[in-house]
Amino acid sequence: MKKQSENVLYGLKEHYVQREWLSPSSLSSMARCWRSYYFDKCGVRSLGARVAMQFGSALHAAVPLVIEDQHIDRAVVAFDGLWDEELADEKGRNRAGAIKSLMHWLGEHTPEKYPYDLVPPPPGAIVAADGASEWEVTLAWDAGAGLPVVGKVDWFVRHRETEDVWPVEFKTSARMSEWFLSGFDRNPQIIAYAVGANMLLPKPVRGVLVEGMGVSKTRASCLRHPVYVSEQEQEDWVLWVQNTAADLQECEESGVFPKNLAGCHPYSMFGCGGWGCDFADLCRLESWDEGLDMYSLSAERDGGGVRKALGLEPKEAPDASA
Ligand code: SF4
Repeated sequence: MKKQSENVLYGLKEHYVQREWLSPSSLSSMARCWRSYYFDKCGVRSLGARVAMQFGSALHAAVPLVIEDQHIDRAVVAFDGLWDEELADEKGRNRAGAIKSLMHWLGEHTPEKYPYDLVPPPPGAIVAADGASEWEVTLAWDAGAGLPVVGKVDWFVRHRETEDVWPVEFKTSARMSEWFLSGFDRNPQIIAYAVGANMLLPKPVRGVLVEGMGVSKTRASCLRHPVYVSEQEQEDWVLWVQNTAADLQECEESGVFPKNLAGCHPYSMFGCGGWGCDFADLCRLESWDEGLDMYSLSAERDGGGVRKALGLEPKEAPDASA
């Protein structure tokens, strides 16, 4: 136990950001592996993950504007505001690739092809000034886990005929397909948004609309996939949040974030191939310093808007210069 306590530090302890609220993605990270959660909350990012995250964030800011304007001009400005072309890579994650994808997105989101209208945030939701886009909606609620759950819905839409309101989750992937999107059919992040929306909307939502954009150098693509969320899944989700939050509290109190070796690769979980954990190289090292050519430290989006809405004091961003 002592060695594990020492190893977990990796010289990173000063960068660890203790949670003041729980996000669906951080809960998933915690449930997969306590150590990967620790690295994530220290701000450790592999170069590949940083490029993918920044490209995805810039597109998140842009895509609802395309639907709103039926034009890409304002969307490209929003994209440019968050993208650093120095990070451009050969996988199509560059400004030209983004514009091609936004043009394709426009063609697939005309009123004739897209039977939804964007709708304003439900009353009680937070529209944080530091959101990815002006359509991003922050939902915060008490799930009995000791800390509020805060989830960011990319935008809300209403179906023109049924008038059903759907929270939308936007995803980018190099290999966009129905198979990829079916991975969200039973997913804690998606269920969280249904639970959060149902706390605020007068008419229960049936689920979450997942909108995918393929990002590749060869072809632009986009797909839409409704995920229906049952009441049972929502009840299961609340118990899962409470258990995972209890684990997190224990790790933070003890300062020990154990490795979960079953979370390193899909084979150990599901007996099949796939992407392994982004921190696999770092996990093999004896000290953080040895990994500096593969990883960097980045401050999270500071969450200032959420802090303000939750009544928390402003906080300085962690030092990302190390
Ligand atoms: S490589 Fe495995 S043990 Fe290490 S952080 Fe990732 S999942 Fe956890």
